[in-house]
Amino acid sequence: MKVSDNLAGIQERINQAALNVGRNPEEVTLIAVTKYTTIERTQEAISAGVIHLGENYEKGLLEKKQGVSDQAVWHFIGSLQSKKVKNLINEIDFLHSLDRLSLVKEIQKRAVGKVKCFVEVNTSGETTKHGIGVNDVIPFIQSLADYDRVQIVGLMTMATNTEDETVIRQCFVSLKQLQQEVQALAYPFAPCKELSMGMSGDYQIAVEEGATMVRIGTALVGD
Ligand SMILES: *Cc1c(COP(=O)(O)O)cnc(C)c1O
Repeated sequence: MKVSDNLAGIQERINQAALNVGRNPEEVTLIAVTKYTTIERTQEAISAGVIHLGENYEKGLLEKKQGVSDQAVWHFIGSLQSKKVKNLINEIDFLHSLDRLSLVKEIQKRAVGKVKCFVEVNTSGETTKHGIGVNDVIPFIQSLADYDRVQIVGLMTMATNTEDETVIRQCFVSLKQLQQEVQALAYPFAPCKELSMGMSGDYQIAVEEGATMVRIGTALVGD
């Protein structure tokens, strides 16, 4: 399938999901996750109109950033090792996987400006998943006041990998609740307006539950 055809279908389903719940579809940003794919396919996505690109690995991101011919907005969505921060952090526009204070400290040391970060939250409770437990998110954010290179723009999650829509939806509902709690605290370093949630298998549910950024790989650039 051409990326442009996949994109048209996905955009249509995002629009429909938004309209189902009375949201403006323009509130939802599509991030094309290119971790499984080539520079050529990434370039095809950009040519089809994709502006936001997501990668899981430092190497993949730097290769794609060098390899494509257009400007893009770069999202790092994978788990980030502290030793990779130095080479990566000033190359990206958003970090979706902030999950520990040691990473915050390394960013503080290496970043030349403010880094827009999502706190990754483990909403499913699965031990295999990364992210901070739901009850630990607010204390974690409260501990960030002194690190002026880190700005918390939102929360990110991966829902339980299951066919059960109710279970998936519950992950997204709890992320949204938490985001509203953080936003209400009104910390200048944590505006926390964004919700990064929804992948190929569950983005329509995520949009219905308030996603402002969906991260789509397989359904968009896979075949
Ligand atoms: C791979 C990945 C995605 C995209 O997954 P698909 O199911 O291929 O759409 C989204 N978010 C994260 C964190 C990922 O690692």
